[in-house]
Amino acid sequence: MSLAHGRPYLAIPGPSVMPDAVLQAMHQPAPNIYEGDIVTLVEGIVPDLKRVAKTTGEAAIYICNGHGAWEAALSNLFQPGDRVLIPATGRFAHGWADMAVGLGIVPQIVDFGTKSTIDADRIEEVLRADTERQIKAVMFSHVDTATSIRNDPRALRAALDAADHPALLMADCIASMACDEFHMDAWGVDVSITGSQKGLMVPPGLSFVFFNDRAKALRAANPRVSRYWDWVPRTEPEAVYQYFGGTSPTHHLFGLRAALDMLHEEGMERVWARHATLARAIWAACERWAEGGAMVMNVSDPALRSHAVTALGLGIGNGQKLRIWTAENAGLTLGIGLGMSTEDDPDGTGFFRIGHMGHLNAHMVLGAVGVIEAGLQALQIPHGHGALEKAAEVVAQPGAVAF
Ligand SMILES: *Cc1c(COP(=O)(O)O)cnc(C)c1O
Repeated sequence: MSLAHGRPYLAIPGPSVMPDAVLQAMHQPAPNIYEGDIVTLVEGIVPDLKRVAKTTGEAAIYICNGHGAWEAALSNLFQPGDRVLIPATGRFAHGWADMAVGLGIVPQIVDFGTKSTIDADRIEEVLRADTERQIKAVMFSHVDTATSIRNDPRALRAALDAADHPALLMADCIASMACDEFHMDAWGVDVSITGSQKGLMVPPGLSFVFFNDRAKALRAANPRVSRYWDWVPRTEPEAVYQYFGGTSPTHHLFGLRAALDMLHEEGMERVWARHATLARAIWAACERWAEGGAMVMNVSDPALRSHAVTALGLGIGNGQKLRIWTAENAGLTLGIGLGMSTEDDPDGTGFFRIGHMGHLNAHMVLGAVGVIEAGLQALQIPHGHGALEKAAEVVAQPGAVAF
């Protein structure tokens, strides 16, 4: 018998669960794209996006996924032959580096593996060694969605300042924005990017590039930028079509409007605190399961973990079995292990991820914990006991929240 029927929880992580308010906002006839409400809609969305990124800089909207935002940022700022420095902590920084290679940009990757955060001292050394100041930017993932490592943008800003290096600091916040605390301006980030389908709770298809005056100056000095990616008309439009380089993504905008209303009604600080607390509830359960069992949390230090996704190991084959069990029997779809394959386990079947981003509350998290417990029991995967109680304790007494 399957107990999966009912409301599903997609925890893969991203696309994330879509709120009913977002779905309902999208369910309407096609509007006129030349005049009327769509114009006011876009004009209202742009400042509210900046409030999410905590910037007074610019926000360019693109009709594409996160890979498009990667390319958009690169296309505005760099020319073939330009050098960028990419500290990597898992999979996604390598993806951004690969996009750079496709544009003829030369990335220098410093790889910190899959279990620890970026060592900012090491980055400072590399920047100091660049005496001719050829490195144009330091590009990193705030959260690496595969490993669930959360890097500290402030440490990289400090490294750039200590080395007195003019390179831009560019953050991939696709998995972290509207989940983990982030202050683009206050933390000295020059360019940040995100997508619609994770913390922003909207279907995949929109992405965003935020940039400040330093980035603007680099763009202005760039002799050639592809028309479609150029962020100038998108941020200084004379007609509404210029925001999008063509037809507006009408229904995504309807959904995004609803999502931004939800986020700002709750308040960004409370959104971050909710994610931090619900993440702690999940980790409390995981720590119990891990005791005397097969489960291992990929990032051992809680201070270095994402509040939006948790990557776990469960022994060869078991991650995959658990995912299949929870989806088929309980309506919970967990994420695959990404970029975690080993020699013994080339397909990464021993790993899985819990997405806990966006439209998420305590009963969803406690439900997910209960379902994973049931799966571990049903599959007879060895695990420690008392996980549900520990998760419930966090929800019962969340205490003061440190992000
Ligand atoms: C999801 C994600 C991406 C890729 O986004 P797509 O929309 O799949 O192109 C890039 N970086 C990070 C950190 C992500 O989480």
